[in-house]
Amino acid sequence: MNCPHCKFSGPRMDLHAHLVNAHGEAIKIYVDKQLGKLVYEMTCPLCSDSVKQPLKKSAAVLGEYHREIRMVAFDLLLYHLQEKHEGD
Ligand SMILES: [Zn+2]
Ligand SMILES: [Zn+2]
Repeated sequence: MNCPHCKFSGPRMDLHAHLVNAHGEAIKIYVDKQLGKLVYEMTCPLCSDSVKQPLKKSAAVLGEYHREIRMVAFDLLLYHLQEKHEGD
């Protein structure tokens, strides 16, 4: 699979690790004022589709938790890429 952000290419597992390590900032984690909840937002760089998910934990327990959120979010992005952009 190809990285949607750069020229990296590799098996799904390698790409997942690459996204977490190299493009972590592509997942936005913030407090959504309308929901009053902490959310993460992931936007597909190829089609600008975006997914926003509320998080159960509060901002107070973040820190290391950021990495965990990104791992989950990039997993969703990989499914999206396979479903919508495979063969592009
Ligand atoms: Zn990349
Ligand atoms: Zn897309």
